[in-house]
Amino acid sequence: MKALALFSGGLDSTLAMKVIIDQGIEVIAIHVDTGFGSVGDRVEYMKRMCDHIGAKFEILDLKDKYLDEVLFEPKYGYGNYFNPCIDCHGFMFRHTSKLLEKYDASFMISGEVVGQRPMSQTKDAMLRVQKLSGQEELVVRPLSGKLLPASKPELEGWISRDKLLDFWGRGRSRQFEFAKEIGLENFEHPSGGCLLTDVQFTTRLRDFIANDTLEVDDIDTLKIGRQLRLPDGAKLVVGRKQDENQILENTKSKKYFKGRIVNATGPFVLLSKNASENDIKLAGDFIVTYGKTELGVTYDINLGEIVIQGKRLENKDAMQPYLLK
Ligand code: SF4
Repeated sequence: MKALALFSGGLDSTLAMKVIIDQGIEVIAIHVDTGFGSVGDRVEYMKRMCDHIGAKFEILDLKDKYLDEVLFEPKYGYGNYFNPCIDCHGFMFRHTSKLLEKYDASFMISGEVVGQRPMSQTKDAMLRVQKLSGQEELVVRPLSGKLLPASKPELEGWISRDKLLDFWGRGRSRQFEFAKEIGLENFEHPSGGCLLTDVQFTTRLRDFIANDTLEVDDIDTLKIGRQLRLPDGAKLVVGRKQDENQILENTKSKKYFKGRIVNATGPFVLLSKNASENDIKLAGDFIVTYGKTELGVTYDINLGEIVIQGKRLENKDAMQPYLLK
């Protein structure tokens, strides 16, 4: 008997897998990549969590589908920021269910806990997620299983309901106790790093959507750097350190000119290809001001397809009105 687990990388989904593994079921952790995970590579960390409890680890890339099916018109709306959590969980289950046959698995699990989150993990919300999954009867929440209607795997005797848990509410002491019992350490903060719950990222995202059509390749450019919306609507993104410069340089987005100052040290930048003359001029001065440059000198900025000029501003405050916080 095998099960597929929705695995965010967080503590709850890890513990949920452990509960099922302890019933003699093989578990394959499916980490759904929506594109909105935090910056940085968490793969090694997630593999380590899975290794610790004896689950296999797979990544399911659903970035395109997430934009098409979930982000903009969630049936059950958003949480406090841009997080369509109920629809998101339903979406993850729905797509994971398509892998049941491939892995010869019989049911799916997740680390949701009744009452843990005000919007997405009330009992009602969890039942809605089950409906959205399209495989209602095959969804099991091992950490709160005793508080929820019996699922097919319980009714059929594939797993024992008695060995499911009755975790409830926002407190996490029982999760921490369980983690200690099984020697699990150095786990992440419960949000799992989803940027759709991050105030700064969602400000940037809302601004982007108000001015442009969001595509998968745009998402990473919103996660890093200084972001400026210029008066005629162009976007300027300025790397703040080496790794950000590298990410901006590697972006596949076709919406931007890309480059940096010639003859001076400066950040890597992206500038909208449809920038007006006025925005290009302003961007030139801003880019030079962010570089190691001198007052009164005109610098060339090589943006690949075009070369623009800029002069250092006397006061950086002039850029403040355009910075997205
Ligand atoms: S926090 Fe993010 S990844 Fe998690 S359910 Fe909500 S929208 Fe989806």
